[in-house]
Amino acid sequence: MNSNIHTFIGCDASFDESGIVIFGAPYDSTTSYRPGARFGPPSIRNESFGIETYSPYIDRDIADYKIFDAGDIELPFGAPEPALDMIENFAAQITAAKKLPVMMGGEHLVTLGAVRAAAKAYDGLHIIQFDAHADLRDDYLGASLSHATVMRRCGDIIGYGNIHQFGIRSGDREEFRFAEQNTDMHKFSLEAINGVKEKIGNAPVYITIDLDVLDPSCFPGTGTPEAGGVDFCALVSALDVACGLNVVAADMTELSPMYDLSGASTALACKLTRELLLRLVK
Ligand code: MN
Ligand code: MN
Repeated sequence: MNSNIHTFIGCDASFDESGIVIFGAPYDSTTSYRPGARFGPPSIRNESFGIETYSPYIDRDIADYKIFDAGDIELPFGAPEPALDMIENFAAQITAAKKLPVMMGGEHLVTLGAVRAAAKAYDGLHIIQFDAHADLRDDYLGASLSHATVMRRCGDIIGYGNIHQFGIRSGDREEFRFAEQNTDMHKFSLEAINGVKEKIGNAPVYITIDLDVLDPSCFPGTGTPEAGGVDFCALVSALDVACGLNVVAADMTELSPMYDLSGASTALACKLTRELLLRLVK
C-alpha cells in the first residue's frame, strides 16, 4: 500500500530526482471581479486523474519523466505582501536546487512572487505573458498590488521592455498607451510568438499563462472572462514556440472552477498543464 498522497497525475517522483517541481499558490484576495481562483490547484489535481499522462501532440508521457508535486503553499488571505513573500521564498528553494518551478494559481498576482525569485536567480529575465488583460495599471483603486497591476510590478523589476504580451484585448486606454511606449505587446492573437526568439535569443524566460487568454466559449471558468479569445489549440501551438526558449520558470493562473459547473474548464486546465510540463521536461 501507498500513503494517501494527492498529486497532479504522474507527478509522484521525489524532489531530489525531479527536474521540475510543481506547486500551488491558492490565493485570490485582489481579484477585481469574481473570486474563486484559490480553488484552482486542488481542482486541477483532482481532475487530472481524468486525463491521460500521454500526449499524442508531442509523443511524450508524464510517466516517463520525474516531476515532483510539492502541494499548495498555505497562504494568508488579505494583505498580499506576506503571501508574495511566501511564494517568492518557496520558488527560490526550487530554483536554488537547480530545478524548474511550475506554479498553479491562484489569481494572476501570485506571478509577482515567483518572478521576484526568478529575477534574483537569473540576470536579464524576460517574461512571456499569455493573457486577455494587459495587467499594466500602476494601481487598481489605489492598490499597487493587484492582478490588474501584476505585469507593471514585474516590469518594475526586470524592465518593461522585457515583457512580451500576447492575446491582449482588455485594459484601459492608459495601459495600452503605456504598452506602446514600453512593453512588447501583441493584441488579440498569439501569432506574434513566432517572432519572439529573434528578440529574446537565449536569455532566461518566465512563462506566465493567465487562462483568461482563452475564449470564454472554451474556458468560462475564470474570474474575468473576456470575449474574443484564442482556443486551446492556438495556445498549445504558442507553447510549442515559447517552451523552445530558455525557460527557467512557468505558471498558469486564474482558473476559477466553480464558474464552469460542466467541469470542462478544469479539464482544459489539466490538459494544458500536461502539455506545458511535457514541453518543459529535459
Ligand atoms: Mn492577468
Ligand atoms: Mn487576464
